[in-house]
Amino acid sequence: MICDVLKEEIDCIFMARQGCTFNGGHCEPVVEACDGCDHVADVDEDLYCRTSASPASKWNHGSCNYATHVVTEISNGNGKKINPLKASKRAGGRR
Ligand code: SF4
Repeated sequence: MICDVLKEEIDCIFMARQGCTFNGGHCEPVVEACDGCDHVADVDEDLYCRTSASPASKWNHGSCNYATHVVTEISNGNGKKINPLKASKRAGGRR
């Protein structure tokens, strides 16, 4: 349902007919680690995330999986960089 609390025009899973069902009734602002992410939205001079209602929780266990400003590099031990998506497909083929 479309948010009518903070992030107007954004389709949110927490929005219901009775209003925002997220903890506290509205989204939490972004955290410092979100600086530079394309999902940050300026709403009434406060910064919120377009994809997550709780940006701090997205950084609790490493980097946010929706972050656009974080580049993940994986090495195969030979000093060569590998594409994580292709490596996953290769590993899936061995099952
Ligand atoms: S997608 Fe992640 S890094 Fe980007 S603003 Fe939202 S919580 Fe922050």
